[in-house]
Amino acid sequence: MNLDALWMPFSANKTFKQNPRILTSAQGMYFTDDKGRQILDGCAGLWCVNAGHGNERITQAIAEQSKKLDFAPFFNMSHDIGFKAAERLVEMAPKGFDKAFFTNSGSESADTSLKIALAYHAARGETGRVKFIGREKGYHGVNFGGTSVGGIGGNRKAFNHLLPFVDHIRHTLDIERNGFSKGLPAYGAEWADELENRIFTLHDPKSIAAVIIEPMSGSAGVIVPPQGYLQRIRDICTKHGILLIFDEVITGFGRTGGDWATNTMGVTPDILNCAKGLTNGTVPMGAVLVGNEIYNTVVDAAPEGAIEFAHGYTYTAHPLACAAAIATLDVYRDEGLFERAGQLAPKFEQAAHSLKGLPFVKDIRNIGLVAGIELETSAEGLGKRAGLVQQKCYEAGVLMRLTGETLALSPPLIVNEAQIDQIFSTIGEAVKAVANESAVKA
Ligand code: PLP
Repeated sequence: MNLDALWMPFSANKTFKQNPRILTSAQGMYFTDDKGRQILDGCAGLWCVNAGHGNERITQAIAEQSKKLDFAPFFNMSHDIGFKAAERLVEMAPKGFDKAFFTNSGSESADTSLKIALAYHAARGETGRVKFIGREKGYHGVNFGGTSVGGIGGNRKAFNHLLPFVDHIRHTLDIERNGFSKGLPAYGAEWADELENRIFTLHDPKSIAAVIIEPMSGSAGVIVPPQGYLQRIRDICTKHGILLIFDEVITGFGRTGGDWATNTMGVTPDILNCAKGLTNGTVPMGAVLVGNEIYNTVVDAAPEGAIEFAHGYTYTAHPLACAAAIATLDVYRDEGLFERAGQLAPKFEQAAHSLKGLPFVKDIRNIGLVAGIELETSAEGLGKRAGLVQQKCYEAGVLMRLTGETLALSPPLIVNEAQIDQIFSTIGEAVKAVANESAVKA
């Protein structure tokens, strides 16, 4: 296979191409690679294949839709399946989210949500609200807005000049106080107060349009918010008329052991972003959800006949994506997958924390069907040790995400108990093997 023509995203192109890992098919919990090996999917593809691979109801719905209506414009035109997909999504959304704006990815959801926030304030005459506050270690995709409000240093530093009028408050990771915590850590709600301090010392509260937060930060290595933290952020936003955006691109659709983190964590934002699990990863699609108040404010501010929100994509509500979304949401409901995630969560937690005490295991964090195993960084540099572990796991037939020095696990919600054991015992063996090899070298 000639690998030359492709510039791979978020990859070490040179290193990868020397020893490529190529997946050729997938079914249920497993990928098959080009050497014919079965690989247990420990990360739902990229946090998205929540109903497992190759679900027939979903693949059939896409195939049938492609024969019926492959594409149709959606600007001042429409198709029935676009409205139906929105209706189904809104039905399944947390209470109070009445309208869905479709995008094609989590990154587009991030930028769309920031623009909705600006449009909403402008429609109410608060045109001075132009600033955004994100968090250190936050990830909101790779478009300009999302990169700017995001706080993962490596994703920002090559690009120098991102959006102005953006500030970041600190993340909530505190291994000293909260190491090896199960579910929401006990300490740290007071970190939310940094938002209010920052508002008063560096900004006029009336200059801030929105605060954007992942209820659980996935890409930064599974950072679960401390108890009470999100509620305090909510209260501060409400007090100052600032919109709160939850980026539920990872946490939506069952990942935290219930339908949405908004519900499992009991804090409701003003704007809710999703993607990934919306179509089970089959066809790119995301959405931004808002309540009627935000929608009506923006739409009613424009004169009759005018475009109220000058934003949208050629592929907004793409018919294949809509078919995939409707079928996916049906599968989640009919197979009770969110309930299943909640039922399996204690087993998953116990299996993840069974790795405590192994060499170099610095922290373990988890919620629902997601866990992060953080290792001590070696002298070779960030991610090198965990990278060796990840490679050994892959060779032993288990795939997982690597982010910094953290191995991130987020299997499809159809995972069974034996597969959960297999995931964590494979990691345990790989950690021991890497520790033995480094002891021999030393
Ligand atoms: N927001 C969050 C919280 C994410 O985790 C991701 C991707 O992992 C994104 C946004 C970006 O999504 P996409 O890669 O679909 O653009």
